[in-house]
Amino acid sequence: MSLIVHKYGGTSMGSIERIKNVARRIAKWQKAGYQVVVVPSAMSGETNRLLGLAREISDRADPRELDQIASTGEQVSVGLLAIALQAIGVKAKSYTGWQVPVTTNSAYTKARIESIDDARVRRDLAEGAVVVITGFQGIDAHQNITTLGRGGSDTSAVAVAAALKADECLIYTDVDGVYTTDPRIVPEAKRLEKVTFEEMLEMASLGSKVLQIRSVEFAGKYKVKTRVLSSLTDPEMPLAEEAASGTLITYEEDETMEQAVISGIAFNRDEAKITVAGVPDRPGIAYKILGPVAEANIDVDMIIQNVSHDGQTDFSFTVHRNELDKALDVLKSKVQGEIQAKAITGAKDICKVSVVGIGMRSHVGIASQMFETLAKEGINIQMISTSEIKISVVIDDKYMELAVRALHKAFGLES
Ligand code: ASP
Ligand code: MG
Repeated sequence: MSLIVHKYGGTSMGSIERIKNVARRIAKWQKAGYQVVVVPSAMSGETNRLLGLAREISDRADPRELDQIASTGEQVSVGLLAIALQAIGVKAKSYTGWQVPVTTNSAYTKARIESIDDARVRRDLAEGAVVVITGFQGIDAHQNITTLGRGGSDTSAVAVAAALKADECLIYTDVDGVYTTDPRIVPEAKRLEKVTFEEMLEMASLGSKVLQIRSVEFAGKYKVKTRVLSSLTDPEMPLAEEAASGTLITYEEDETMEQAVISGIAFNRDEAKITVAGVPDRPGIAYKILGPVAEANIDVDMIIQNVSHDGQTDFSFTVHRNELDKALDVLKSKVQGEIQAKAITGAKDICKVSVVGIGMRSHVGIASQMFETLAKEGINIQMISTSEIKISVVIDDKYMELAVRALHKAFGLES
């Protein structure tokens, strides 16, 4: 018998009416002969509301207690969904993370799943029940409740699918798949029927919000067949049609005929740029600048160092926008005097735009086509970084939409 994992996001669980629709959809799959495990998120807005309550008391709340609070949103969801299933005659049983248990490390608010015990779940499935497991949470070795970071239910679902060796993990969400770019920016954006795992990983890390990046890493590690599809369709739509809808994440390259060279354009407004100007160009300087930044636990993304003039150079890098002030503090207090930099400045009015495609491996000229397109629009490139399957540029924030539209067109993603 085929075992399938369904994941429903906050919007899909957003009201009692929607939860009833989710139950009808699950009932359809079960009737068709599938064993079904469901991993829902909290009702939309609920996690924010819960964390907001804590923030009203303190903005430096103990992360252990934040997890204690935030995890309850999913507990409500699984109970409601189990009741909705039972109400239409489907045997169902709900579990929180600690009941399964889903074991994680102790990194509160960003814990990692270490193992999932499948015994209880398998027993219920064998008895014909639909098993509903909370997303987003687990328990550490000392019996503390943990959460996996915002958007973590995706990771829970993929991890459950991996642990149970499910045939497929269906991520039901409020969009009907993965698009060539955000349709709110480019109305001509197209849904991809398939995307390779590596492209999906790049897109998730470059700012596409469809899947939590860790869930994609997990899917890749365990080769979980994962599909992103809409939960807003008619729950009674024919199962075969539903099963083939959305976007499938694949693990083989060029299995199909001709693949587009570029699969998508991603963008991200979450970064800020720091420039350390007038630093001596000698060995050890990059380390002297970035060492203290790393020690402060600040993630660095793109880095460039310019050609030097008269023994001096400028060094720029990007960090998450929320960490700009912290990074500037570190640089001004620990770095500037030490390396005698002329100036340290931060800029938030930037964005990162990337083209992603596995086809880059076998095609030349993608970078020049990208730069030509931006040049034609008069957009100045501030930084560039590449990997085997993506090229990213940092540009002025105000040109973001223009750049995304122009690139989407230039790479023929509309047709
Ligand atoms: N409820 C959690 C959040 O809002 C987890 C999730 O929805 O995936 O981040
Ligand atoms: Mg989500």
